[in-house]
Amino acid sequence: MPRLLLRGFAGFWQEIHSRKIEKLAVSLSEVVTWSPETQFSVGDGMKLSRCLVAFIVSLFCVNVFWAQSAPAPKAVVIRAGHLLDVKTGKTLTNQTILIQGDKIAGVGSDTQVPAGAQVVDLSNSTVLPGLIDAHTHITMTTNFGYSRLAISVPREALNGARNARVTLDAGFTTIRNVGASGFTDVALRDAINAGDVPGPRMLVSGPPLSIAGGHCDNNLLPFEWHVQNEGVADGIEAVQHKTREIIKYGADLIKICATGGVLSKGDDPRASQYTFEEMKAIVTDAHRLGRKVAAHAHGAEGIRWASEAGVDSIEHGSYIDDAAIAAMKKNGTYLVPTLYLADWFLENAERIGTPAELIAKGREVMPAARKNVARAFAAGVKVGFGTDAAVYPHGLNAHEFAVMVKLGLTPLQAIQAATINDADLLGWSDKVGTIEAGKWADIVAVDGDPLADVTTLERVKFVMKGGEVVKNLYAK
Ligand SMILES: [Zn+2]
Repeated sequence: MPRLLLRGFAGFWQEIHSRKIEKLAVSLSEVVTWSPETQFSVGDGMKLSRCLVAFIVSLFCVNVFWAQSAPAPKAVVIRAGHLLDVKTGKTLTNQTILIQGDKIAGVGSDTQVPAGAQVVDLSNSTVLPGLIDAHTHITMTTNFGYSRLAISVPREALNGARNARVTLDAGFTTIRNVGASGFTDVALRDAINAGDVPGPRMLVSGPPLSIAGGHCDNNLLPFEWHVQNEGVADGIEAVQHKTREIIKYGADLIKICATGGVLSKGDDPRASQYTFEEMKAIVTDAHRLGRKVAAHAHGAEGIRWASEAGVDSIEHGSYIDDAAIAAMKKNGTYLVPTLYLADWFLENAERIGTPAELIAKGREVMPAARKNVARAFAAGVKVGFGTDAAVYPHGLNAHEFAVMVKLGLTPLQAIQAATINDADLLGWSDKVGTIEAGKWADIVAVDGDPLADVTTLERVKFVMKGGEVVKNLYAK
């Protein structure tokens, strides 16, 4: 009993001390589920249970009383000269955003400001929700072909720590990472959540699923090296097992390679790789286990099959045709085009030693993608914002906006893709994507009006994540 009391007191003291009342339920369940059999004989169980219940109830009362009398969490107030409501497209003037702890507590022109609140003056800028990038490879760098073989998994993790900081500085407070080796993305996400390294909130896929020899396999070395990427699985049973295994090691979502790709050796971007039945098996398992599915797909048939199999988003969509557009509209599948990368890649690929085969594929696929994606925009498919950052240096993510606008979206639609649409795609509409009470205080600010010049988002001057100011070029 003394050990139990000690454990209970220690746990509750910690809660009271940190004043996190919402964690109380978790602490309670930890105490309740603690098994007395591990410390006591079975005969003592009943007496112990009654004693335990009385003990918990008394501690609960004490804790509620103490928590009620505890001071409120740190308050921060943002004076926003212009505030873009990304839902309506209206720019509101002279708004006050009240932040308590890591959440937005209120927003409006007559918001009450608590005494002693820290005030952030953004009265000369336009304030909008933290941006979301739904397609990054945060642990990877611009190494394609054989130069990628020289990067170890530990080095990849360290690259991720650097790239996460750069991405957050660029105004991206949330990312969905779709492919990394050795679960480096899981480790990075956890390190960021623990406050060990700065970076955006991350939803991660771990290694992408691929057929043997597919885009997401490693096809660089001959047979005797026996090299295969971690996500390779063929056939229904194998893809089911791989999906479960990837979730076991910490993935928030599943990424699959439905067709060939550009930056891989020996495969054709237009060719379907996974069969419809394999994709259906992956999606069924992933959804049952509460994970969304993102499908890399260039070729039209693979896009259509993936959409019909129930994936949540098509990444790239380079050869999307009318039938694929119709399937995506019917199924409500998001299109996450990655377009700006063409500008950087086609200019720099030779200089950085990219193999000729990959450059040739890029020259063919990337311009075609712009033409076809423009047609998909015009047809009204749901659009998410993604970049494939790693195909160009991290931090340039916001260059995607201007290309989306060039291909037919309005600046507001492009901004909505990177806020409310991506929040919906990630399943985080109640957490991120707008500046509203109850959401995480993820906020950015720029000079000028992004609805008039969307490139202003390439020069984000203020970034707040979870109520903490991580960048403020306006500070005197
Ligand atoms: Zn990618």
